[in-house]
Formats: sequence, C-alpha cells, structure tokens
Amino acid sequence: VADDEAQLELAERLGVGMLLINEGGRIRRANASAHRLLGAKPQSLPGKTTMEAFVDHRIEGLIRGAQADSDAVAEITTASEPALTVIVRARLQLDGNVAVLLEDVSELRRLRRIRTEFVDNLSHELRTPLTTVRLLAESLGMEIDRTEVTPRIREYVAKIDDETGHLVQMVTELLDLAQIEQGEAPLRVQDVDLARVAAATIERLKPYAERQGVELRTELPGVAADRTVGGDEERLAQLLVNLVHNAIKFSASGTEVVVHVRPLDTEILLEVEDHGVGIPRRDLQRVFERFYKVDRARADRVGGTGLGLAIARHIVERHHGRIWVESEEGKGSRFSVALPRA
Ligand code: ADP
Repeated sequence: VADDEAQLELAERLGVGMLLINEGGRIRRANASAHRLLGAKPQSLPGKTTMEAFVDHRIEGLIRGAQADSDAVAEITTASEPALTVIVRARLQLDGNVAVLLEDVSELRRLRRIRTEFVDNLSHELRTPLTTVRLLAESLGMEIDRTEVTPRIREYVAKIDDETGHLVQMVTELLDLAQIEQGEAPLRVQDVDLARVAAATIERLKPYAERQGVELRTELPGVAADRTVGGDEERLAQLLVNLVHNAIKFSASGTEVVVHVRPLDTEILLEVEDHGVGIPRRDLQRVFERFYKVDRARADRVGGTGLGLAIARHIVERHHGRIWVESEEGKGSRFSVALPRA
C-alpha cells in the first residue's frame, strides 16, 4: 500500500493520471490528475467501476486485455468538458491489480490535425494552377512539334513538361497522405475490371513514358472473371498509377514496362515489371515506408516524395490484399499486388 502511494504520487508529479483497478474491475485508488483528466470531482473515483469512470466501453476490454497478457494501450476521447484525447495504458501488477496510466495528448493531436489540414489546404491550392501549367506545357510541346524551333527550345519545353508532371504527382501524393491521416472516406467497393484500370493508367502515363523512351504494355487474361476484383476503382487506379509511374521513372530509355494481370485461386495478381535500375536487397523491405528513398541523390534527381509506395501499401491493405516486391540491382523490379477476387 505504501508502494501504491509512492507510485500514485510519482505519476502525479509527472502530470500523468493513474488508477489502480482491482480484480473485480473497480477503481481502488486514483490520483488527482486522473480525476482531472476524466472530469471527475476530487476523491470521487474510488469505488466506481471503470465503465462509470470512463464512459467508454473499450476500457473494459483494455482492462481484460491487461489482466490476460499484462499490457494494453488505447487512445480514447474523454467524456469530460472539454473532451480530451488521452492515451490509456493498462498493465497488470504483481498483486493482481491493474495499473492504468492516463496521458493527455490533446495538444499533440491538435497540432497534428493543424499540420495535416495545412498540408491538405496547401496541396489543394497548388493543384489547380499546377495542373493548368502542366496542360499548357503539354500543348506547347505539341505546338512546337509543328513549328520550326531550335533544339534548345524543344529541350526546355520538354523539361518544363517533365518537372510539372513531377510536381503534380507530388501534390497528389501529399493530398492522398493527408486524407489517409485524417482517417479518410470509406472505400466505394464494386466489381472492378483490372483490365480497364490498367488501360486507363497506361493512357494517363503514356506521354511521360514516351518522353522517357519507355514502352508500356499489358498482358491480361481473356476471361473477365479472371481480371475482376472487389474494390474501389479510384483507389486501385491510384495504386497502379503509383507503381507504373515508378517503373517508368526508374527505367532506362529503350526498355519496356509490363503490367500483368493473372488469376490465382482466390485472388487476382497484378504485377508491374520494369527493367530499370532495380533496388538493392537491403532496401527491399523499406521502400514501402513513408518518405523512404533508396538512393537519395538519384531519387531527388528524378523527383518524388517517397510517398507513392506508402500510399500503395495503404490502399492494398484497405482492400485486404498483399503487396510485395522482387528486384535485382541493375536488372529491374517487379511489384506484385494480390487482391481478393470479386
Ligand atoms: P518516390 O516518390 O521517391 O518514387 P516511392 O514511395 O514511390 O517514392 O518509392 C520509394 C523509393 O523506392 C524510390 O525513391 C526508389 O528509390 C524506390 N523505387 C520504387 N519503385 C522503384 C522501381 N520500380 N525501380 C527502382 N526503384 C524503385
């Protein structure tokens, strides 16, 4: 009991709420911070059940989890006024009680939300003018194809077109990330013919591929059922654009990028294969991490945020699929995605 007292005291001094819960799920002791964080009157918590104190049914599961395997964490919003965002950690003590620690992270969450909203707004604002510049650069490119201009002008215009393409891609990825961080809209699931998605992707990236001197090709099964998955068409299109965009970006002129669709037992396999620079073995697992780039110098030269694959993985996981990569440095890469059949 003296021990309990010391622990509650220490937690209090650190500004952390602490509760001790007995085996029957009732609060035995609670420090002042716990009362404050839960919006309870001083000294009112002992004797209450956790449900009464937290007004959040998840807390009982958390305590049971702690009783079963000795460590459990959740983030909850308190019923107090104003509501707080609190991280709750429950841990089984040697005496059979569960110690619950409450940490107020409202301010951190608020700052995170502001950052996300900022990125979101900025990307939205940038997207429209950028897309316009992009279209103008593209039109200019077509215009000078029909005109007598110096090779240098031709080169400059191609470069502008290329770089604005990268910018548009980056802004799109930042927007996607912001959406993911905000907990985003639910998937609109329907039957999706991957042949259609592949064709649309190739159409979209063709100008970029042509400039890079890369050939785009598809290999698709003839039977529609062997190409159809249950998913959100827009998200799947975005997934494929990210993979094919990378494949082109890291390929040498004169090589080809192939999009395969193959039926498996209960899944459809989508593969994007290139014969580009490849990925060193030690980086293979890490390329799906946010902001990860294999060779920073090279990646920065070709442009990119390091977000494309993180977004791709997120989309695949939301579809209950799998994504992986095989690659050999200097030979090329194959990104594979297995998605449940429709
Ligand atoms: P980025 O915007 O930098 O392309 P990604 O998340 O899409 O970000 O990719 C992360 C890193 O993985 C890239 O910077 C690159 O180093 C590597 N990578 C991705 N796709 C390929 C590929 N097809 N061939 C070689 N390297 C690749």
